[in-house]
Amino acid sequence: MELYLSDHAHLRAAQRNLSLHDIEKVMTWGREMYNAGALFYFLGVRDIPTTYRGDKRSRQLVGTMVVVCSHCQQFVITVYRNELALRRDRRKSKYDSRGGYRCSCCDHIIEILPESA
Ligand SMILES: [Zn+2]
Repeated sequence: MELYLSDHAHLRAAQRNLSLHDIEKVMTWGREMYNAGALFYFLGVRDIPTTYRGDKRSRQLVGTMVVVCSHCQQFVITVYRNELALRRDRRKSKYDSRGGYRCSCCDHIIEILPESA
């Protein structure tokens, strides 16, 4: 399935040196959680297939969260490292004031909390 990244996700992925391939790995291997109209993928160390556990690049992805639209599941809202999620990002994103994010693919409203983006 083809993925679309929001501008925000593009920026965050670049800041964290995550390629589209890395994001796909997290979505393939990670565990899924639904919350607030979004689908969260989280990669824990045990989620990495045994054959990839020795792979440095794959291990670096541990702790990565990928947030996608829960409706079309192909629009990536943001990506972040789990430890950063615990810290509040004081910089306001453009969608904070609306209290949600509209998926560019399917118009689904995602009500994720600003601090998780
Ligand atoms: Zn969508």
